[in-house]
Amino acid sequence: MRIQFLGGASRVGSLGMLLEHDHDLLLFDYGYLPSKPPTYPMKAPPVRTCYLSHAHIDHSGMIPWLCGRHDTNVFATMPTIATSDLLHNDSIKVLNLEGYPQPFDEEDLETTRRNFMEMRLGETRKEGDLEITSHSAGHIPGACMYEIVDREVILFSGDIHTLNTELVWGAKPVKCDTLVLESTYAGRRHPDRLKLDHEFLKKVEVTLDRGGKVIIPAFAVGRTQEILLILRRKKFEIWLDGMGKRVNRIYLDFPEALRNAAKLRNAVKDAKRVRSQRGRERALKGEIIVSTSGMLDGGPVLRYINRIKDDPKSGIFLTGYQVDGTNGRRLRDTGSLDMSGVNVKVECEVSFFDFSAHADHDDLLRFINDCDPERVILCHGDNRDLLANDIEGRDVLMPMEGKWVEL
Ligand SMILES: [Zn+2]
Ligand SMILES: [Zn+2]
Repeated sequence: MRIQFLGGASRVGSLGMLLEHDHDLLLFDYGYLPSKPPTYPMKAPPVRTCYLSHAHIDHSGMIPWLCGRHDTNVFATMPTIATSDLLHNDSIKVLNLEGYPQPFDEEDLETTRRNFMEMRLGETRKEGDLEITSHSAGHIPGACMYEIVDREVILFSGDIHTLNTELVWGAKPVKCDTLVLESTYAGRRHPDRLKLDHEFLKKVEVTLDRGGKVIIPAFAVGRTQEILLILRRKKFEIWLDGMGKRVNRIYLDFPEALRNAAKLRNAVKDAKRVRSQRGRERALKGEIIVSTSGMLDGGPVLRYINRIKDDPKSGIFLTGYQVDGTNGRRLRDTGSLDMSGVNVKVECEVSFFDFSAHADHDDLLRFINDCDPERVILCHGDNRDLLANDIEGRDVLMPMEGKWVEL
């Protein structure tokens, strides 16, 4: 048995892992990084079956290409299947808007819908003499890790979070011989989560008390729901706009993927949904607007920001990591934004809150020790070596993209 990363080994984004066993190939995840221009993985050879860990574009973005080219069957949980479809549709629109070539088209999306097959959390499938079982990854609803059992046990982590969040329970370790582990947060530590929630709510209150409005850009898949759950602890007037509205509905259809479906149902019910231009005007008269996109590259959020950016009483609170080259990163680094090609100075308050859905450096080390593998293969990280330096008593591999690793 051997594996090869088609992308996403030495950096975050465009993850794809081929596994060769008995001359048969399986693919785990196949995504692209929505950078400018987009970063694509190496072209996948024909594979009959792909296992998808979760819907985020850096894991699922090239699935339509795969289905269109190779008619591959793709296994995933229902929340992943439904949210992937939303994101795939959106990525066609975004690539078009940004003027980049499309790796796939509407017809490929049709094939993808036909080829997706449900695999429930905890379910086991046979692939020749391999047994593949999915386990919750604690990252976003429906996200899973794959346990691959041959004579030895391999665990492919996808993206994981080991601590409980408002939205999902943390991932539980799985005993294995080889752990293929994401290392997005290698070398970085999250602030204490309870303190962060408190600080965030405090900041919102202070801003509203001084007569300002709060704009919260949030990723549609996972972050929007987490933010609604945190804000719900106070009786704010919340307006919700963008793709997050549709993701709410999908998640509520699959309550078993959530930590507390009733809580999310109430949080969604309490938020007012923006449905029209009139709604947008009403939202701007309210207190808080939660909207996509999370990195300020398009989506309705920019229209709201445009209206409050000169008001020093108001605030923009970023809630996720801002990738290099995005508008959100520009705002954090320079205090200005690209608004339809024009560089615009932002005078209102800008704050950043690290609401990550990933295990941090120490969480990853703890997870490794609890899974107790002989060998750790680090991937999906810009600073894998920082994590490798802290792993003791195990073989640690950091393969580059395109290199085969014998297992
Ligand atoms: Zn992810
Ligand atoms: Zn990822």
